[in-house]
Amino acid sequence: MRLTRYFIPTVKEVPSEAECASHQLMIRAGMIRKVAAGVYDLLPLGLRAIRNVEQVVREEMNRAGGLETFLPSMIPAELWAETGRWQFYGKELLRIKDRHDHEFCYGPTHEEVMTDIVRREVKSYKQLPLTLYQIQTKFRDEIRPRFGMMRAREFMMKDAYSFHVDEDDAATGYERMFKAYEAVFKRAGLKFRAVEADTGNIGGNSSHEFMVLADTGEDTIVSCPACSYASNVEKADVPSPAPYAAATPDPMSEVATPEQRTIDEVSAFLKRPPDSFVKTLIYTLDGKEQVCVLVRGDHEVNEHKLKRILDATTLELAAPEAVQKISGAQPGFVGPQGLKVRILADQAVRGIANGVTGANRDGYHVIGVNEGRDFKVTAYHDLRNVKPGDRCPRCQKADLEFHKGIEVGHVFRLGMKYSKAMRAVYLDKNGKEQVIVMGTYGIGIGRVAAAAIEQSHDANGIIWPWGLAPFQIAVLPLNVAKPDIADAAAKVEEELETEGYTVLHDDRDERAGFKFNDADLVGYPIQVIVGDKGLKNGEVELKIRKTGERLNVKLADLKEKLRETAAMLAAG
Ligand code: ATP
Ligand code: MG
Repeated sequence: MRLTRYFIPTVKEVPSEAECASHQLMIRAGMIRKVAAGVYDLLPLGLRAIRNVEQVVREEMNRAGGLETFLPSMIPAELWAETGRWQFYGKELLRIKDRHDHEFCYGPTHEEVMTDIVRREVKSYKQLPLTLYQIQTKFRDEIRPRFGMMRAREFMMKDAYSFHVDEDDAATGYERMFKAYEAVFKRAGLKFRAVEADTGNIGGNSSHEFMVLADTGEDTIVSCPACSYASNVEKADVPSPAPYAAATPDPMSEVATPEQRTIDEVSAFLKRPPDSFVKTLIYTLDGKEQVCVLVRGDHEVNEHKLKRILDATTLELAAPEAVQKISGAQPGFVGPQGLKVRILADQAVRGIANGVTGANRDGYHVIGVNEGRDFKVTAYHDLRNVKPGDRCPRCQKADLEFHKGIEVGHVFRLGMKYSKAMRAVYLDKNGKEQVIVMGTYGIGIGRVAAAAIEQSHDANGIIWPWGLAPFQIAVLPLNVAKPDIADAAAKVEEELETEGYTVLHDDRDERAGFKFNDADLVGYPIQVIVGDKGLKNGEVELKIRKTGERLNVKLADLKEKLRETAAMLAAG
């Protein structure tokens, strides 16, 4: 491909709207342009990268026995109503009305649509297992779209759904998908880790996320240096703590803490450590019931755990008016004493003695608070986030390590959540009706491309992993005004394309430095530089973007040398 007939509108300046490297570089390399918040044009180069991700994903899905389909983005509300998600999915779901006032959503995920196909078409155990997938555009009205393709509102996803006769077969299907995901991310050249994950909005009994390790990741993951435990903090368990040493309880007394609301403020004001505080939060469960949640002052509530324990469809911090009604005080001055709602407490609150909490009176806290005497807990659970210094919940042998990660894929065992709600059943060997067991598996196509850049770039630009590069080789003639250089470059382009490489020939009449900068920015893994000096000896220069290594290669040896280099780059 000749660049004079191609379209790569590169940008020199760092775009001000882009917060992370991949977003900046995708704009600067002429891959994407913004249309609206979280909505992007894919320009030719961007689309080539995306197609490469798709291809890797498609091949591995097919290898794992998946069958490709293509479902609509517009989904009638009735299907989503069957599982209750029409009501509960929240504002991320873009709801649309057609001219007849029929309600639809723009699909953010397709469990309902796929289950609908299967319940209509699958009748017998002989048709199972079945794995159907698609690579298609999703829309999620993200509260904070950012980082370009990483957290877009409209984005490409591969979503697969598997249907099984029983849990055993579903486990086998999950295992096969898990392996396929490892193959995908390996081929994409990513450093990744599979971690235990919360099942969130999708539901089901167990799940893993595939995390690309990168400092700009929005997820925090923990792993144990002594065993194989790795988890998203959303899911990570906290082992139950050792009991507190017995203490002589002080009387409870009120202290004025004007304008001091946060634990840090009150802790500094009263000169008492945060771990002597009982943090008291009021949540609204499923839009109706208020529950009180207690964690120690130096701990954070894990709302994912809370949601699971309460079996909540929705859970949010209660509005100040609701807090006032229950406690008589504004948020910041609330304590568990005398509250007439369910009180759930983290296990570290058990046995807390002579603690500090809100006095249920604006501008006041109480000290000398003792669990059991001054407030009673309905139930104790593991309700907090893990934090640095916590031990591994599995082996208890080492402290957890913390990393940032980008979630590129997510696999779930769904059990019968959707098939039961939608009556997806089959007849077993004995002609008896059984409910189908399901799994669901997603990969963010654009997010994989962005994560690859996040992990592999330098000050000059992108360094594409071989498997995703929009063009594998750039041919860079130094001076196209010289016919022998232009001819040699054209010949190299043709030969390498015939060899099966994807080649971009920068035949623009521009200065060498300008072309080098663009080539480094766009990130072709290999550059073949055609110049006067080399040609005199029948040589070209080969530059490997990843290592910066340069070597002179005889034209006659070029194909052989490239074969070697490509194999090395493909191996990572
Ligand atoms: P996140 O926690 O990042 O919002 P999610 O848990 O909502 O992700 P899933 O519902 O599991 O994501 O979707 C499957 C995959 O789709 C994710 O692993 C991710 O790679 C991708 N994905 C999800 N949301 C977005 C988005 N807004 N932009 C780009 N890719 C996304
Ligand atoms: Mg999400």
